[in-house]
Amino acid sequence: MAIVNAREILIPAAEAGYAVGAFNVSNIIMMEGVIEAAIELKAPLIIQTSVAPSKFLRPDIVAGAFRTLAESAPIPICLHLDHCNDVDYCKICANAGYTNIMIDASKHDFKTNIELTAQVSDFCHQLGDISVEGELGTVAGVEEEVVVADGQELLCSPDQAVEFVERSRIDLFAPAIGTAHGVYKSANPFVDFERLAQINRLLNGSGVKVPLVVHGGTGLAPEVVKKLVSLGGSKFNVSTDLKHTWINAIDDYLHEHKTDYNTAKLDSAAKDAIRGKIKDWIDLLGSSGKA
Ligand SMILES: [Zn+2]
Repeated sequence: MAIVNAREILIPAAEAGYAVGAFNVSNIIMMEGVIEAAIELKAPLIIQTSVAPSKFLRPDIVAGAFRTLAESAPIPICLHLDHCNDVDYCKICANAGYTNIMIDASKHDFKTNIELTAQVSDFCHQLGDISVEGELGTVAGVEEEVVVADGQELLCSPDQAVEFVERSRIDLFAPAIGTAHGVYKSANPFVDFERLAQINRLLNGSGVKVPLVVHGGTGLAPEVVKKLVSLGGSKFNVSTDLKHTWINAIDDYLHEHKTDYNTAKLDSAAKDAIRGKIKDWIDLLGSSGKA
């Protein structure tokens, strides 16, 4: 049985100073490509879907495919729901078989964010061994249905972080530190390393209790990724990079082979490209060989 919640694989990662890749997939072939890469490199893994692809595919189908693939995989794998701002849909996905749920109530005021997040924590913890991720501050950019305009993002206050984590009863914490969703407009986006380090000291200084999550992995320079991991980022979310890889692979394939009308070869080309991309990320995050 290789199905785990996020907490089980992130505590060892945070303790040892590597990060587990959390890769957004929007279809089942993409999921297979990601899992094959992680198996090849013996890396613990988090598969995640945003709300829109989860609804499009149906949560029971996502969870069913995940269960079939993960049960026979020789590595621990978690299925995570990303950035869900609807408490009821969080519960639907937890019931369907997701093993980590992110309730993103970060657009609400501090008190409401705590209340909504705690509702999901309590539900998931009572239902079974499902861990929960919460966010404080906001991540700029577009994440499916969550849109935060540039300049409107709000970085996470370290003092509030401690209160938020305690009162919301979450298992993993996503503090907004300047990373963004989508494609960075600058080659050197501002990332508040010291803020992440301070939050990590406050929450995990006397032993890892609440692993930290970095959103917006696509487009960060490798040295920035490594620094974020060294400062306590132990779940590393990557989405846009997979979308680009998928669509570019299909575009390339069709340019050369369109008139073959061979869908299996088209799917294989896209899956191979995803597998290569994920192996690069796993190497960068340091989780190769950790499963
Ligand atoms: Zn995110």
